[in-house]
Amino acid sequence: MSQDASNKNQQHYRAETISIRGGHTRTSEREHSEPIFTTSSYVFESAEMAAQMFAGELSGSTYSRFTNPTVDIFEKRLAALEGGERCIATSSGMAAIFTTIMALLETGDHIVSSRSLFGSTYSLFMNYLPKFGIKVTFVELSDLNAWEAAVLPNTKLFFMETPSNPLTEMGDIKKVAAIAKQSKSIFVVDNCFATPILQQPLKLGADIVVHSATKYIDGQGRAMGGAIIGDNKLVGEQIYFFGRTVGPTLSPFNAWIFLKGIETLPLRMQAHSKNALELALWLEAHPKVNKVFYPGLASHPQHQLAQEQMNTISAGFGGMLAFEVRGDVNDKANAWQVIDQCQMISITGNLGDMKSTITHPASTTHMRLSEDERRATGITQGLIRLSVGLEHIDDIKEDLMHGLLLI
Ligand SMILES: *Cc1c(COP(=O)(O)O)cnc(C)c1O
Repeated sequence: MSQDASNKNQQHYRAETISIRGGHTRTSEREHSEPIFTTSSYVFESAEMAAQMFAGELSGSTYSRFTNPTVDIFEKRLAALEGGERCIATSSGMAAIFTTIMALLETGDHIVSSRSLFGSTYSLFMNYLPKFGIKVTFVELSDLNAWEAAVLPNTKLFFMETPSNPLTEMGDIKKVAAIAKQSKSIFVVDNCFATPILQQPLKLGADIVVHSATKYIDGQGRAMGGAIIGDNKLVGEQIYFFGRTVGPTLSPFNAWIFLKGIETLPLRMQAHSKNALELALWLEAHPKVNKVFYPGLASHPQHQLAQEQMNTISAGFGGMLAFEVRGDVNDKANAWQVIDQCQMISITGNLGDMKSTITHPASTTHMRLSEDERRATGITQGLIRLSVGLEHIDDIKEDLMHGLLLI
C-alpha cells in the first residue's frame, strides 16, 4: 500500500470522503491541503509545446478563464458528489443558469419551467430570454399533467427547482425526467436547496444540475460562485466551449473557499436538517402559527415523495422552512413583528448559511409577483421564510418567541 497522491481510487469513495478528499491530485510539492493557484496563465516549456496545447493535442492548464488547477479540484469534487461526469464552475449561480441556457438553446426554442423559482431566475426567464427569441411556459411544480401539456414542438429544455422557495413544494424529478425524455428535451434541475448530500437529480434522470455555490456549498456566507454538472457531451463539450469563450469564470480563491466549505457539507446538512425538523414541529404546535411548510413534516402534502427522492434517512429534509403566522393573511404586520423582534437571527436574503436567516417573501424575494400571483402560489403577507442555521435550537426558538408573544 502507498499514499495515493493521484486521485485514481477516488471513484469508490462515499460522499463524506469525497467531500474532504475529492478532486485533489498532489503537485510535486506534496502539499497536504489544496493549493490556490492565483495565476492567469501558464508557461509552456517550448514553442512546440504551446502549439500542441493550443491544438488540443496536450491537455493541461493554459489560461485561467477556462483552466485553473484550484477551480479544477472544486469541479472534480462537486462532479463526484453529484454523480456527474463533468462540472464547470462559474462566478455565481446565475452565471451557471445563464451559461447553461445560452450554450444549449437558440432563437425559436422553448422552455418549460416550474413557476416557483429563485427571483433572478424568474426575471431572466420573463424579461431577458424573450429578447433572444426564447420563450418560457411556467407550470405548477407538482402538477405532472401541466408539464406534459406545456410541451410544444420547439420545446428544448425543462427547468425545475426542488424543494421550492419558499414553500418547500416538491417536484417529482423521476417523473418529470420521463416527460422531458419523451419530448427530447434537456432536463435541468437547480439543486441549490437540497445539495448533493440530500438529493442527486442526475441519478433520478435529470440531464444537468446547476448550483449556486454561494449557499450551502460555501455555508458561511463568504463567497459567490456556481456550478453546472452533467455528462461529457452536454457539459464537457457544448457548455464548456461556450463558457470558455464567454468567460463566466470562478476565481481560484473562491474555489478554494468552497473546497473548505464542502469538507463539512455532509455534517452541516445533517445538522441543518435536525434543527429544521425540531423547529418545524415546534412551530406547528405553536398557537400563534397557522401553518408550517417543511418536507419533513407528516402534514406536508409531499412528505412521501420527499422520502423517496431525498436521502432523508442519512441527511434529513434540509434546512429551509416557511411558516405563516396567525392573523389576517393579507396584512404583513404580524409577520414583520416576528421578524423585527429577532435579536439573533439575521434579516437577510441569503440562505444556506450556518447563521439562521429570516425573510418576508411577499415584500422581498417575491415582491415582483402581483397580489393575485402571490395568492395563487400561497405566498401570503403572513408568510415567513427561515433558513435554519446551526445555532443552538433553543436560542433560535427563543429569538422567534420575542415576536410570537406580541402577536
Ligand atoms: C441564490 C440562488 C440562485 C442564484 O445564485 P447566485 O449565486 O446568487 O447567483 C439560484 N437558484 C437558487 C435556488 C438560489 O437560491
